[in-house]
Amino acid sequence: MPKIYDIIIIGAGPAGLTAAIYGVRANRKVLVIGGKNPGGQLMLTTDVEDFPGFPNSIQGPDLIKNMTEQARRLGAEFFNDNVASVNTNKPPFEITTETKKKFSGKTIIIAVGSAYKWLNIPSEYKFKGHGISTCAVCDGYFFKNKDVVVVGGGDTAMREALFLSNLCKTVTVVHRRDTLRAQAVLQERAKARKNIKWLWNSDVQEFLGNKNLESVKIKNIKTNKETILKTAGAFIAIGHEPATGFLKQHIKLDAKGYVAVKNQTETSVPGIFVAGDVRDFKYQQAITAAGFGCMAAMDADAYLQGFREISNKSKKQK
Ligand code: NAP
Repeated sequence: MPKIYDIIIIGAGPAGLTAAIYGVRANRKVLVIGGKNPGGQLMLTTDVEDFPGFPNSIQGPDLIKNMTEQARRLGAEFFNDNVASVNTNKPPFEITTETKKKFSGKTIIIAVGSAYKWLNIPSEYKFKGHGISTCAVCDGYFFKNKDVVVVGGGDTAMREALFLSNLCKTVTVVHRRDTLRAQAVLQERAKARKNIKWLWNSDVQEFLGNKNLESVKIKNIKTNKETILKTAGAFIAIGHEPATGFLKQHIKLDAKGYVAVKNQTETSVPGIFVAGDVRDFKYQQAITAAGFGCMAAMDADAYLQGFREISNKSKKQK
């Protein structure tokens, strides 16, 4: 019989770790299953300037390390493996990981975040790891003093471009419109960098090269003119999609694949709650994820209290 936890949290980003802190402080037995690479997107971020409490900013991995240590010190247990399946029939819910470890939880909080979106053009797959990446912090160094492109016009694209501009000879931002979606401060910083160039109203048509990426075919969608731009690397930064593949059969998802919620954190299965980017199409910030983590843990605790009251009542009636 697997050990039964009060709350099992799937995901160890700011949502999952905040839920763990609130869960153990409510005196619940808490397990965090953090995935093979725990920590979520903050692990791939450099300076975090917008998480309150750090006047001189904090590095993303350090913020995760601090949150993890805080949750562990308070009593949360951790296991790092990807979850393969969740039995949602009735509590306690059984979770099986990819290495076949089994855990049971009276409640579950899903905080698995979201994954990078890809352009989904066939040649993109050929060059993944051979010039195409979604993480400048991880792979940027391979392109030191070279020319690279960044695709996208949001906050992530600006952050990637800024990071790469410190390493690479030039960074060309390829964006499908002529205005950026990114927050003003990031736009201003990127536009002030001399080695960041801009290709507006432009779509990537194809990635070209032999073993490694050598150039990108780009089409101006206003003029239909196609150009070939030589590049050693391409960083795709076109947003994220929820990592809900393993939940599809079990929990109601919305049309975009995010977990459908009622009352902020409740899923279609009573006793299973949700927090962070996996339920939030709109805000997707570390601080909002942390806030939802707190709410999900409080709701799981309230559910467990109700559970206890209901089972006490039925015991008394017997
Ligand atoms: P995003 O805001 O959704 O931006 C995605 C960008 O990629 C948009 O410019 C979009 O173009 C473009 N795009 C989407 N699909 C495309 C496609 N198929 N082909 C070409 N271009 C495509 O995503 P994000 O930048 O990853 O940010 C996600 C969330 O995380 C946001 O809420 C953001 O504020 C937050 N974030 C915050 C920070 C921070 O420092 N605070 C850092 C990173 C992310 P259109 O503009 O034309 O739609």
